Amino acid sequence: MRCKFCKEEAYITLSHPRMPLCKEHFIEYFERRVKRTIERYNLLKEDERILVAMSGGKDSAVLSYVLKKFNYPIHCFYINLGIEGYSDRCEEYVKRQCEMIDAPLYVVRIRELLGAGVGEVKISRPTCSYCGTTKRYISNKFAYDNKFDVVVTGHNLDDEASFIFSNVLYWNTQYLAKQGPLLPGEGKFVKRVKPLYETPESEIAAYASAVGIEYTGEVCPYAKGAITLTYKEFFNHLEKRRPGIKIRFVRGFLKKRHLFEGEVRRGEVKECKICGMPSGGEVCSFCRIWGLKEPVDLTIK
Ligand code: SF4
Ligand code: ZN
Ligand code: ZN
Repeated sequence: MRCKFCKEEAYITLSHPRMPLCKEHFIEYFERRVKRTIERYNLLKEDERILVAMSGGKDSAVLSYVLKKFNYPIHCFYINLGIEGYSDRCEEYVKRQCEMIDAPLYVVRIRELLGAGVGEVKISRPTCSYCGTTKRYISNKFAYDNKFDVVVTGHNLDDEASFIFSNVLYWNTQYLAKQGPLLPGEGKFVKRVKPLYETPESEIAAYASAVGIEYTGEVCPYAKGAITLTYKEFFNHLEKRRPGIKIRFVRGFLKKRHLFEGEVRRGEVKECKICGMPSGGEVCSFCRIWGLKEPVDLTIK
């Protein structure tokens, strides 16, 4: 197969739009789409202080690389969850990825901060549920305490399609109303954006190899058997039969999202009496999960 634009040998054949591309034209095409997503949804402004949430995996590694290439002055951030072996191995990848693009990296280690790792807390909630709460809280508070304007995450098209699908499947309509490439900031909630929102996972892996980014493909031990992996397989299967179905599903959802707005539960937002961050009750779920008596200090020293 030859590249659609220059007749060099094809590096990849995209499924939608269907076209073979050489490495150089694939890199150009990939970056243009990320730029278009940022512009279409007005995700980033020039003077904003940007914090990129890193994981060691391909999505955040590629995202930080591309943002740096676009000349955004990014800062990177990694939460070491203290999961035996796994978290430290991911941290090594994050360090190398940040060195490659010469971006500052801040690491928060849960074990040092809270005295235990994720998976070691004795509560009735499933590990992934309180891990999600922990990651959201820490990334938000770190950004807020250190005056970042926006937290950027590497969620891709496959993540979003499967997330929307699972919430439709269980009719969690209050989550659907708030799902999208941009979650605006409000009070102590810092704006969150997803510049890879329209980029398929398979192309992110192809881009990483094309530009020589090293990343870990190791899956968190708590993710094994997660249903989201099944949803992703399902969408990949559908995509083979109907190329373009993922992006049509996600864009179609964004057009209809307003239909779910009435479903958002708008309870009174209080301030957690321990940490002062927004909370539905007297004490926020983060402080409750970790049994805190005083707030965690996340300011950069
Ligand atoms: Fe946390 Fe691992 Fe679950 Fe992801 S899979 S939410 S990192 S415990
Ligand atoms: Zn070409
Ligand atoms: Zn709190």
